[in-house]
Amino acid sequence: MRGSGPRGAGRRRPPGGGGDAPSTPASLAGCSSAPRRAPLWTCLLLCAALRTLLASPSNEVNLLDSRTVMGDLGWIAFPKNGWEEIGEVDENYAPIHTYQVCKVMEQNQNNWLLTSWISNEGASRIFIELKFTLRDCNSLPGGLGTCKETFNMYYFESDEENGRNIKENQYIKIDTIAADESFTELDLGDRVMKLNTEVRDVGPLSKKGFYLAFQDVGACIALVSVRVYYKKCPSVVRHLAVFPDTITGADSSQLLEVSGSCVNHSVTDEPPKMHCSAEGEWLVPIGKCMCKAGYEEKNGTCQAPSPVTNVKKGKIAKNSISLSWQEPDRPNGIILEYEIKYFEKDQETSYTIIKSKETTITAEGLKPASVYVFQIRARTAAGYGVFSRRFEFETIPVFAASSDQSQIPIIAVSVTVGVILLAVVIGFLLSGRRCGYSKAKQDPEEEKMHFHNGHIKLPGVRTYIDPHTYEDPNQAVHEFAKEIEASCITIERVIGAGEFGEVCSGRLKLPGKRELPVAIKTLKVGYTEKQRRDFLGEASIMGQFDHPNIIHLEGVVTKSKPVMIVTEYMENGSLDTFLKKNDGQFTVIQLVGMLRGIAAGMKYLSDMGYVHRDLAARNILINSNLVCKVSDFGLSRVLEDDPEAAYTTRGGKIPIRWTAPEAIAFRKFTSASDVWSYGIVMWEVVSYGERPYWEMTNQDVIKAVEEGYRLPSPMDCPAALYQLMLDCWQKDRNSRPKFDEIVNMLDKLIRNPSSLKTLVNASSRVSTLLAEHGPLGSGAYRSVGEWLEAIKMGRYTEIFMENGYSSMDAVAQVTLE
Ligand code: AMP
Repeated sequence: MRGSGPRGAGRRRPPGGGGDAPSTPASLAGCSSAPRRAPLWTCLLLCAALRTLLASPSNEVNLLDSRTVMGDLGWIAFPKNGWEEIGEVDENYAPIHTYQVCKVMEQNQNNWLLTSWISNEGASRIFIELKFTLRDCNSLPGGLGTCKETFNMYYFESDEENGRNIKENQYIKIDTIAADESFTELDLGDRVMKLNTEVRDVGPLSKKGFYLAFQDVGACIALVSVRVYYKKCPSVVRHLAVFPDTITGADSSQLLEVSGSCVNHSVTDEPPKMHCSAEGEWLVPIGKCMCKAGYEEKNGTCQAPSPVTNVKKGKIAKNSISLSWQEPDRPNGIILEYEIKYFEKDQETSYTIIKSKETTITAEGLKPASVYVFQIRARTAAGYGVFSRRFEFETIPVFAASSDQSQIPIIAVSVTVGVILLAVVIGFLLSGRRCGYSKAKQDPEEEKMHFHNGHIKLPGVRTYIDPHTYEDPNQAVHEFAKEIEASCITIERVIGAGEFGEVCSGRLKLPGKRELPVAIKTLKVGYTEKQRRDFLGEASIMGQFDHPNIIHLEGVVTKSKPVMIVTEYMENGSLDTFLKKNDGQFTVIQLVGMLRGIAAGMKYLSDMGYVHRDLAARNILINSNLVCKVSDFGLSRVLEDDPEAAYTTRGGKIPIRWTAPEAIAFRKFTSASDVWSYGIVMWEVVSYGERPYWEMTNQDVIKAVEEGYRLPSPMDCPAALYQLMLDCWQKDRNSRPKFDEIVNMLDKLIRNPSSLKTLVNASSRVSTLLAEHGPLGSGAYRSVGEWLEAIKMGRYTEIFMENGYSSMDAVAQVTLE
């Protein structure tokens, strides 16, 4: 290290700087003709540029930063009179390492500067950021013949420091480095320094470390700093899953799939994953963790009250049990209330929940001489804690004494109480509150609800029940689907192929009923138990629905083989095929009628709490009266047997073209995502079965939609319908219309057919295309047709021509207005 004085007193000048002709480093270092420029130059470079740049982004991990090395860098110049280190120290007397070379007047230069060994710390792709100045050859008097304006960067991989006995030809070239801005004598006069920053990356690396080398072949360079780093996706907690620091992949386009682990007290159905991009960004989270029952999410963690442990019985009678308990050991907050769950032993699927602000309750209306199981949990602002262990208590027999010894049993009183209870029950029955939500009598602070199979039984409101909630799927099928004797069915012909077997048409003749045309789905022989379960799962779902726009289930055949699902027959089959076959054959009102039916069916499903996830024209059936019915219900298989469903990089199989962006990105399937799909179905219907986004790839569709692109209006589409489609495709799912609003809107249009006369005109379709793709980007194309083909809109060529946009010049003139 040859430097001595602190910054500001430095002797350095830019290589080739000063008025004297450049020749040797010695003359450069001397800078005698412009000694006062040096401090300013130094400060410009070191104060302004370097200091502010010292902090690296959090996803970059430095392996070497020449600006922060306190001692000797240990780099070697070869030959020795080529690159030289210019000694400088900053105001803290810390060395600043700058190397320069300026042999622009001499022929055949080959000056190497070799770094010391750099460990890659396990990274297989590294980045090298160079900061340098480079002199413009034109500004060098007499140097034009030999002067160069580039230098070369190389690397050599090795597992250990091997003394740098590496031959020149063993180095692998990374790149030739040129300056974006070279400087001239004039710049020096203006005191403007042009510091260049260039970044190159190298990979995949297979050894533990590497050397870098800089080769000068006759330029005038000052290498001011070298920073070597790799990128990582920094550790994050996303959706309650911890993702560790992850070094990016070796390939610049690689996405590394990283599994997250659930934070304490959380669990997952679908393992959380994210993708670490080569740029060190976390992308496309899949799956998530959820706080365990009794815990609530707060700032990326789950906390909650500890379980109630100390439960004591109080008064026990024939029909009631009183309990008391103590606050949990660790309430972890103020206890807002307790939830008491109880059920008759071995009858867990039918349980009652009482909520109480007190630490005592009396469960009433129990059967005499029966064992009841109680569990209690506390709720704080953070949510419910876990349930206590089970406590079992038995009611006393009818003629036995109450467990409370102060109470003398009197048969007459019991009978009276029984009669009163009976009267109360009858009263309830007559008032229409047969089951479901009722306020408990004993305490106005208590609430009581009855459950069956985990579902609140509320009169009049039907809710879809996921067959998965049944331990035995056969139980679900038989609860929701009628068993049909195979002898009642006549199979006539095969009409389609389903995932589990053939779909046939035929007739169903049930005793005492008239014969019906039916569709019969069969389960092929040799099925696995899971296939049988999934196959019948569709019937368990369909059997819960009863609506004119939902395919109606007649029943199932499970007691003989083949296993069958029997539904109403839809003469015209699936809607997409039907529309393609009948292109242009229907009036607008007929099309809107079809759409109205689908929307009504979807409103019914969303009211029931059922999210379809695979709404598409291919999954709508249409009968001979052009009535459309939503079909294709299933459990997990719904998406798996859809030929349109594609595996996304984000995992899972999703029919991309029909699916809302939030459902693709993070599996947020809701009735609002069904509304998005409904908008696509509208588009399919109005365009008579055209394929959404035509031949664009799924990846292009995802990207385009993410960037705001939406399907253009189909030909001859009423403006009101296209507007509704656009509303369904709002990015913000809460801004999309609800199905009941869609039904109302379509009803209005049907009542007022003149409102359908205003069509989206050709010129507005043109402007949509321009808005999406921009006339600016069109400059590269020779003809309008070529441009439209390139953006997959070739089908609009005719419209463009008809509207006078026959040349790219004309297109370029069009403003968005
Ligand atoms: P799926 O397995 O439900 O997709 O049915 C396969 C094919 O069978 C459908 O695309 C329809 O063409 C036909 N299909 C299914 N159900 C019926 C039905 N109820 N009425 C008429 N055709 C049907």
